[in-house]
Amino acid sequence: MIGVAGTTSEREWPVDLDVTSLLDGGWRPTPFRQFILKIHSRCNLACDYCYMYEMADQGWRLQPRSMTRATIDQVAHRIAEHTRAHGLTDIDLILHGGEPLLAGPDLIRHAVTAARSATGSSVSVNVQVQTNAVLLDAEFLRLFDELDIRVGVSLDGDEAGHDLHRRHADGRGSHAEVRAGLRRLTEPAHRRLFGGLLSTVDLRNDPVATYEALLDFSPPAVDFLLPHGNWDTLPPGRAPADPGTPYGDWLVAVFDRWYGVPVRETRVRLFGEIIRLLLGGASRTESVGLSPVAMAVVETDGSIEQVDTLKSAYEGAAATGLHVARDTFDTVLLVPSIAARQIGDRALSAHCGACEIQRICGGGLYAHRYRTGSGFANPSVYCDDLVRLIAHIRTVVARDLGDRWRGKGAR
Ligand code: SF4
Repeated sequence: MIGVAGTTSEREWPVDLDVTSLLDGGWRPTPFRQFILKIHSRCNLACDYCYMYEMADQGWRLQPRSMTRATIDQVAHRIAEHTRAHGLTDIDLILHGGEPLLAGPDLIRHAVTAARSATGSSVSVNVQVQTNAVLLDAEFLRLFDELDIRVGVSLDGDEAGHDLHRRHADGRGSHAEVRAGLRRLTEPAHRRLFGGLLSTVDLRNDPVATYEALLDFSPPAVDFLLPHGNWDTLPPGRAPADPGTPYGDWLVAVFDRWYGVPVRETRVRLFGEIIRLLLGGASRTESVGLSPVAMAVVETDGSIEQVDTLKSAYEGAAATGLHVARDTFDTVLLVPSIAARQIGDRALSAHCGACEIQRICGGGLYAHRYRTGSGFANPSVYCDDLVRLIAHIRTVVARDLGDRWRGKGAR
C-alpha cells in the first residue's frame, strides 16, 4: 500500500512512486499488449459526458485533427520494437478518437497495414475500431471485412436513453443514425465483425429496459461504463456522504436480468470479470481486479499517454511526457504513473488495503479514485456501489453453485 504525498497534481500520488526501488525489490513491468491509437482527435457528435471534450483536460484543442502517416509509421515501428523485445505474438490495436471513422478509409488502411507489416507475420495484430457508428457505411464495412477489423459501437440503450447524452452539436439526437449503422453492421455479410456494445449508465434510464434495448442488436458482448467522476467531481446522482448505492442497484438489476435466463443472451464484461475473480481467476479488464494494466495510448500528435479516461481527473492527468518519435514503449513502462497501474495491491489506498473484497474490486477504475491532494491514492468514488454489486454477484453465484452441487450429488 501507499502513502499519500503532495498537495498539488504535480506532487500527488503516484508522481513520487519510486520505480527504481520497485525494480530493486524484484518487480518487473508487464509489456504493453494493447495499443490505442487516437487516429482522429475530433468527433462528429458532442456527447455531454465525454471525457475527451467536456471534462477537466482540454488538451484535445492542441492536437492535430488527424494522425499523420509519418506518425503512424513511427507508432508502428515502436510497436514492432516492443513486440520483438518481449517476444509478443499477439497484440491488440484499437483505433480510437474522437471518432476514428473521421480519419477516413485510406488512413485507417494505412494504420492497420503499417502495424501489421512492421510487426511481421509472427505477430497477430487484432484490430478493433471503437465508433459511434454514425458514419458506418458500406465502404467502411468492406474495408473492415478485408482487413478483419472488429467494430465496437457506443450505444446507451433505447432512443430516449441514448439521446439523453449522445447528441450532435446542434442538439439533435444520434440514435436513429447509430441504429442504421448497427443494422448495416449486423447484416449477415458483416455480423462477424461486430465486437460489441459500449453503454454508459444513466440512472434516469430503466436498467432492464436499457439492457433489453441493447439486446435488440444481438451483440456478442456488452460493456457497461460508469459515468466518469471522482472525489472532486462526484458522478451524477451522487451527493457527498450519501450512503445510497444507486449505481450498484442499477447494475444489480441488469445482472439479475442477464444471469436469470436459461440461455445466456450475451456476455456482459463487467459481470463476467467479477465472476471470474470470485472463482479465483485474474481480471482481464482495468475496471476490476488487480491485474497489471498493459495498455498504452498514442495521441494524434504521437505523444504517449496513459488510458485517456484519466482526462476526467485534471488537465494533463494522462500525460507521460514521452513521444513515439523519441521514446520506446519500454521507457514508458518505467514512468511512475504507468508503473502504478502494474503493481497490484501496492497501488491501493489504505482504505482499500483493509477491504475484504480488494482482490475482486481492485479499487475500481483508476480514474474514479482521484481527489485533489491525495491523487489516485483513494478508494473508488463508486466504492459503496462496487461493494453492493460484488456482494450481490457473490451471493447469487454461490447459491447457484450450491444448488448445482446438491443437484449433482443427488443423482
Ligand atoms: S470496494 Fe471500496 S474499499 Fe474495497 S477495494 Fe473497492 S474501492 Fe477499495
